[in-house]
Amino acid sequence: MPPSSAAALQPAPTNNLDAFWMPFTANRQFKNAPRLLVGAKDMHYTTSDGRQVLDGTAGLWCVNAGHARPKIVEAVQRQVAELDYAPAFQMGHPKAFEFAARLTALAPKGLDHVFFTNSGSEAVDTALKIALAYQKARGEGGRFRLIGRERGYHGVGFGGISVGGIVTNRKTFGPGLPGTDHLRHTYDRERNAYSRGIPEHGAELADDLERLVALHDASTIAAVIVEPVAGSTGVVLPPKGYLERLRALCDKHGLLLIFDEVITGFGRLGAPFATDWFGVTPDIMVTAKGITNGVVPMGATFVSSKIYDVFMNGPEHIIELFHGYTYSAHPLACAAGLATLDTYAEEGLLTRASEVGERFADALHALKGLPHVIDIRNIGLVGAVELEPIEGQPTKRAFSAFLKAYEKGIMIRTTGDIIAMSPPLIISEAQIDELVGTLADVLREID
Ligand code: PLP
Repeated sequence: MPPSSAAALQPAPTNNLDAFWMPFTANRQFKNAPRLLVGAKDMHYTTSDGRQVLDGTAGLWCVNAGHARPKIVEAVQRQVAELDYAPAFQMGHPKAFEFAARLTALAPKGLDHVFFTNSGSEAVDTALKIALAYQKARGEGGRFRLIGRERGYHGVGFGGISVGGIVTNRKTFGPGLPGTDHLRHTYDRERNAYSRGIPEHGAELADDLERLVALHDASTIAAVIVEPVAGSTGVVLPPKGYLERLRALCDKHGLLLIFDEVITGFGRLGAPFATDWFGVTPDIMVTAKGITNGVVPMGATFVSSKIYDVFMNGPEHIIELFHGYTYSAHPLACAAGLATLDTYAEEGLLTRASEVGERFADALHALKGLPHVIDIRNIGLVGAVELEPIEGQPTKRAFSAFLKAYEKGIMIRTTGDIIAMSPPLIISEAQIDELVGTLADVLREID
């Protein structure tokens, strides 16, 4: 064996952090002062220096039932020994069908079919492709445009960043998909600052869709995609009546409405899906994250029968949709997902955010008046505290808050100068107080 190959087989020293190009991370800052997590149980992470950190973000908005839940751990362990992998193209395994049936039974009425992916980004791109293919299949192939929204986050695929509206995620990657356009975002601090729950003002912002229809003509538009509640962009809530109005306008113009529920799905707001919470049903619903409690990567795109049935024509031996992933419906993900649904059901977690949401809102809104705070927003177990940016140094203040919070034993997330929290749905009232109380100390201590 040549010496270089032998060297490649040696375990890397654990202090070599250079090889891993970390995603959405300030790599040089991190590698100078690493924050390494080595264990997790229920509401806490264990750090490499042996500290317990209260998880205020459910990992990345995904560990809704808390960490290392026994039923899920056992299901994955059993599955890997029984059937580690099975192709999903022209083959199947029973848990894929069982999981799809369980999911569609839980999903809002009318979303009767599910296409499995491995992430939210893939589930978004799947939704966009299905929307375009559906319009073509029903003889409306001229509808090629996809409408997103400013400040929307739909993952990092080219489809997702094209309909997404976060400038930093788009500006370095060329023009993206042709034929996309964006609605105005719904954040209006002037009228809605410190709203508790859904903001009062701004339903009329949905009428921005009329502007885009007037500009492009409805006959060129396939679909509109929005997050019912935007999370990654700093928690932007839909004003009262906004989603209803968007639904009505999509119906008026024959456009499909896609809800990206990657964050809002699986109990985050206090109902199984935001669709249930708002009582507005999309034609396509995108999910991921909480679908397996974050334990095995998975995404799922739900579609209505209206859409699915259009594809189920033509000769039976012909593939209806030329799309899919090597790991679609991976056996480990399906096993994790089934056990996750059991855990959610047994512990009433999909509605728990509505039970503790008031306590969370009280704690959060008590931060009003603390240094740097310019807005506070909440819904279910989602909360955001917006800080005044340091002049000329946007994001720096919130990042300092993140570092200080970690040092003090809580995990929060920041986007721009917004602090977001989305704890596991098992959080106790005492832990809510601990999370928000520690954040209050952080705000008092940072510059
Ligand atoms: N859509 C939304 C609304 C999200 O919040 C995210 C991730 O945070 C995604 C899509 C992308 O999911 P993933 O990171 O699993 O690709």
